[in-house]
Amino acid sequence: MLLKSGKVITKLLIQTRKMHLLHDKTYINGQWISAASNKIFEVLNPADGSIISTVPDMDIEDTQKAIESAANAFETWKNTTPKERSYFLRNWYNLLIKNRDNLAKIITLESGKPLPEALGEVNYGNSFVEWFSEQARNVRGEIIQSSTTTKKILVEHYPIGVAALITPWNFPHAMITRKVSPALAVGCTCVIKPAEDTPLTALALLELAEEAGIPKGVLNIVTSGRKNAPKIGKLLCESSLVAGISFTGSTQVGKILYKQCSAGVKRLGLELGGNAPFIVYNTADVDKAVEGAVTAKFRNCGQACVAANRFLVQEGVYDSFVGKLVDRVKDLKIGCGFDSGVRIGPLINRAQFEKISNLVGDAVAKGAKVVIGGIPAPKIGELFYEPTVVVDVNKNTMLFSEEIFGPVIGIVKFKTEEESLDIANGTDRGLAAYFYSEDIKQIFRVNRNLEAGMIGVNEGLISTVEAPFGGIKESGIGREGSHRGVEEYTYIKYTCIGNLE
Ligand code: NAP
Repeated sequence: MLLKSGKVITKLLIQTRKMHLLHDKTYINGQWISAASNKIFEVLNPADGSIISTVPDMDIEDTQKAIESAANAFETWKNTTPKERSYFLRNWYNLLIKNRDNLAKIITLESGKPLPEALGEVNYGNSFVEWFSEQARNVRGEIIQSSTTTKKILVEHYPIGVAALITPWNFPHAMITRKVSPALAVGCTCVIKPAEDTPLTALALLELAEEAGIPKGVLNIVTSGRKNAPKIGKLLCESSLVAGISFTGSTQVGKILYKQCSAGVKRLGLELGGNAPFIVYNTADVDKAVEGAVTAKFRNCGQACVAANRFLVQEGVYDSFVGKLVDRVKDLKIGCGFDSGVRIGPLINRAQFEKISNLVGDAVAKGAKVVIGGIPAPKIGELFYEPTVVVDVNKNTMLFSEEIFGPVIGIVKFKTEEESLDIANGTDRGLAAYFYSEDIKQIFRVNRNLEAGMIGVNEGLISTVEAPFGGIKESGIGREGSHRGVEEYTYIKYTCIGNLE
């Protein structure tokens, strides 16, 4: 298995290095450039630790250049018509479609997710470019009736200016297009800061944006190693040339950005961490619940903000659910994302791998029982961890209270609906929640009482371009996607025209 994957990866690397989409420079003001310091960092394949490429390790001097480039470009981009911006986005979308397979390969190489999932992410990510190419022409103002005949009230939407977009490694394509597309659609320009682990997909997206004719300076990207991220983030938050920040990542970093933006009362969109409950009631169709659990948990090896995190199962269906789930988990093939049939790839990096090992270790030390998995898979690679089901999880464990971000299901048994809601809502997060029930009254009751921005009822896959994505509590501020996605990048201007007699 290891040898086969190794050969596949090496062959792919050789092919990918020849691809025009793989860049070792970054893109600022329409130029592919190195860092001012000439420093670089390595991008690693988490499946085998091999070096895929190097990219510029930029710092605040480079970030300042990127901000100035975006600020200059804004002066012309803001005056383009919605029709023109729609055209550029559509051109970009067409190229993204044409290059779908190569984009997916880059995602699998640098993030480790199985190729079919990477293709799924490309389709999802591309859908934002298509959607906002359509929304560009649908941003409408209002004429509101005044209380006097001598005045007219006009309401229009204007682009905020330069938008700084900071994105995570778990969806290296979609987290960028979900922000860039609405920003461009309304006339904003962008500085993008991708994660250290996955800058190559971001650079490939920008290559295609350049080919699509998006003018120089409209999109700029600052690649950097983890060490420089806080400095770069601070500059983006504090620069008077940046009008707004949109961040997807951990709640911990989101709070830092929130504080840093307060000095300039800067516009801020935050898509932060989740801690989704997945509740199975006695009224559930258990087979559907098991399928939903596998979908909601194991996509991207559990490394998704909307991943089901705390499994609550009512006592009447507990044994049946656990038994069927374990049978299903046995079938999940673990391995290199390029191997056929693989469902579970590696964790993204060593820190993430150690976190998962510690969470399971802590839960077991406090009385939980591992039913399947619960161990690393070093024969496949250093960052692989077996898909795991743990029962009798104590509610005071880290496995239950923290966002797991790994292929581990921890299950708690409950007695009453009220108890399930108390547990589900007993967190400072409120991104996604899932529950399974065939009782229509219960569905509406539980839906009303669950504290989350997004809810899957008898459904484990909820993200889609048409729906508003976002959370409540410490899971964030604002919504992405849907027709509301443009709101983060516009401000409302009310104009009063008087003395009309
Ligand atoms: P993270 O550490 O917060 O990193 C996210 C991004 O922020 C990366 O580009 C990172 O750069 C950068 N960053 C780190 N420290 C920074 C700072 N002080 N100032 C400015 N930027 C900084 O999160 P992660 O571990 O990559 O991603 C996992 C988290 O993202 C999870 O909590 C997950 O739930 C959340 N997430 C949320 C959503 C959502 O839509 N709600 C979607 C996906 C993921 P470096 O990589 O260089 O450190």
